[in-house]
Amino acid sequence: MLTPLKGKTVIVTGASKGIGKGIADVFAGKGANVAVVSRNIEIAESSAEEIRKNGGIAKAFAGDVSSLDSMKKMANDVASSFGGVDILCSNAGVFPNSSIEDMSINEWDLVMNTNARGALFAIQACLPFLKEAEFGRIILTSSITGPVTGYAGWSHYGASKAAQLGFMRSAALELAPYNITINAVMPGNILTEGLVELGDDYINSMAATVPMKRIGKVEDIAYAALFLASKEANYITAQTIVVDGGQIIPESLDALA
Ligand code: NAP
Repeated sequence: MLTPLKGKTVIVTGASKGIGKGIADVFAGKGANVAVVSRNIEIAESSAEEIRKNGGIAKAFAGDVSSLDSMKKMANDVASSFGGVDILCSNAGVFPNSSIEDMSINEWDLVMNTNARGALFAIQACLPFLKEAEFGRIILTSSITGPVTGYAGWSHYGASKAAQLGFMRSAALELAPYNITINAVMPGNILTEGLVELGDDYINSMAATVPMKRIGKVEDIAYAALFLASKEANYITAQTIVVDGGQIIPESLDALA
């Protein structure tokens, strides 16, 4: 049993929907004060309202991870509201599809600036508060795509997700003296609003390639993040947890039972 998060404040970037919303819901269920962050404040507010209706503590904050000023304002507002910041779930990300032949500089920059540089800016903005925390925790939402696997059309995305992990290992060394850990969750295919829109046939064909024969739920990622954020995970830093139902394991389709 992990120590409850009552009194701890968590910032979740990209928490208005998808995996971030799942992380926000689970952390709120464990008693944390949750800052629901996204660019669209209306959608963030409706996600925060849902948490409050379920008995949790949550507030919405506007924030764009591709802007350091925006992240600094958001972190300051969260700290003023809740009295500090203990945990940062750096989760916001984008994954537009583009072939190498067609990829523009703007497409490359959007993905790198949101996914990789966005993590840096969120961390830079939260660092003064994490240093003041009893123990600070940073959890990155990386991916299996890039660090482990590849997918045509996602070379920029894969590069950004691998960049997060390279960043993490050096960051861990800088943060350890402040009793701050940084780790990453690497999701496989997770059922989010965007995936639901692609329809049952698409989802079923994806599920068939996963040893556990289902697409992951946002809660599957959230519980891994929850462990890495816990007091009990205090001696774990610069590590990754793949949460993919075994998706990356089979050597070939024949290896799938
Ligand atoms: P999603 O459903 O599209 O949600 C993305 C969230 O990020 C939204 O809340 C969005 O809100 C926010 N966001 C996007 N750009 C932002 C920015 N510049 N600043 C602040 N917030 C921003 O995505 P998801 O599928 O849950 O993915 C979340 C994370 O998991 C990403 O890092 C993704 O790479 C990773 N991941 C997802 C999967 C999967 O299968 N879904 C698999 C592996 C890894 P606004 O648009 O309002 O800002």
